[in-house]
Amino acid sequence: MKLKNNDQKVAKLIELETNRQKTTLQMIPSENHCSSAVREPLSSLLTDKYAEGYPGKRYYGGNQFIDEVENLCIERAKKLFGVEYVNVQPHSGSPANAAVYMATCDPGDTIMGMALSMGGHLTHGAKVSFSGKFFNAVSYGVYEKTHLMNYEEFEKLAKEHKPKLIWLGFSAYSRILDWKRLGKIADSVGAYLVADIAHVAGLVAGGVYPSPVPYVDIVTTTTHKTLRGPRGGLIMVTKKGLKKDPDLSKKIDKAVFPGLQGGPHENSIAAIAVCLKEASTPAFGKYASQVVKNAKALGEELSKLGFNLVSGGTDNHLILIDLRNKNITGLDAQNLLESIGISTNRNSIPYDTASPFKPSGIRMGTPAITTRGMKEKEMKKIAGWINEVISKPYLVKRISQEVKNLCKKFPLPK
Ligand SMILES: *Cc1c(COP(=O)(O)O)cnc(C)c1O
Repeated sequence: MKLKNNDQKVAKLIELETNRQKTTLQMIPSENHCSSAVREPLSSLLTDKYAEGYPGKRYYGGNQFIDEVENLCIERAKKLFGVEYVNVQPHSGSPANAAVYMATCDPGDTIMGMALSMGGHLTHGAKVSFSGKFFNAVSYGVYEKTHLMNYEEFEKLAKEHKPKLIWLGFSAYSRILDWKRLGKIADSVGAYLVADIAHVAGLVAGGVYPSPVPYVDIVTTTTHKTLRGPRGGLIMVTKKGLKKDPDLSKKIDKAVFPGLQGGPHENSIAAIAVCLKEASTPAFGKYASQVVKNAKALGEELSKLGFNLVSGGTDNHLILIDLRNKNITGLDAQNLLESIGISTNRNSIPYDTASPFKPSGIRMGTPAITTRGMKEKEMKKIAGWINEVISKPYLVKRISQEVKNLCKKFPLPK
């Protein structure tokens, strides 16, 4: 039965959200628009199937085709990222990271991660998350002056605290991390090293951001950010990781199921398989490269207009703007941009003295607008609108019409 005949309320809300996405610019750096080919398996009958366990070792019958779906997804991920082993069952990025903790640590162990306030993720040891509650979390960050990764502090803290597990990766850092240098430091203290590439997985797959695979033991990622898949998570073990701990993949499988989850979402796993096929094409490489070009173009134009970019620019898909010289908070800027149809999110900047609810920064990214086909020329326009509305909020009406017109010219992917 069609949804609109069965449940008008939900059908209406989906229609409204679809319209919102079509008529406004999605510039939250963790968001993207996946293809309808990726979305199709999500609403398929695969959602009805229970498949606790792993291919060939299920606790339910009737999984002959499901096993093939999951194996296909695993093989594609292994090939795309060049890793030895992949678990494709985590429901999302945070559950994937939880499984890594469960596989490698005991409660109370010392772990290390980039501080949330410096660009790290909640699951890397933030106090409000299970990772900061159940583990003794040590945080590293960036230099106050340059906003670049503080490798010296990282090394000092690692040597002093000898963590069992170290997280690399970020949600709001716009530069390239020196995976090799960080890998050497982790090795010198005998820690498991995990690269959480949730934000940049699509750029790594597309060959425009360095891969951490040769230098770390484990790689985790979401599948729905730059990788442009459905919501989901992956845990990968590298050759290096298996050399350090030959049981690592078994430990991870056990941590995901039965440790943390029950039945995997095979409809999502099928959609991830489709996404991985797309991500291995030359067209995706071009896309990834344009994402970075667009972020650089947007950042350069905003700099010219007097905006201060944290770290001075970007090497990836996102920029973080320090708004203090513009006399507007991150919250007010987010609301103002929302009113012209540009969706971004407020964000703390490193060493922010303002509260996380009204931080001094705003974060924006180019993955979704690049999927719509926009290029440098459109980035210039967007930067101009951002500048105009922040300096002259009374222009909201005119600018929002211009944003709408641009959206019409660049429809969402088929
Ligand atoms: C987004 C993100 C996650 C978590 O992903 P969810 O799917 O929201 O749970 C984990 N790590 C990093 C670095 C992220 O940016």
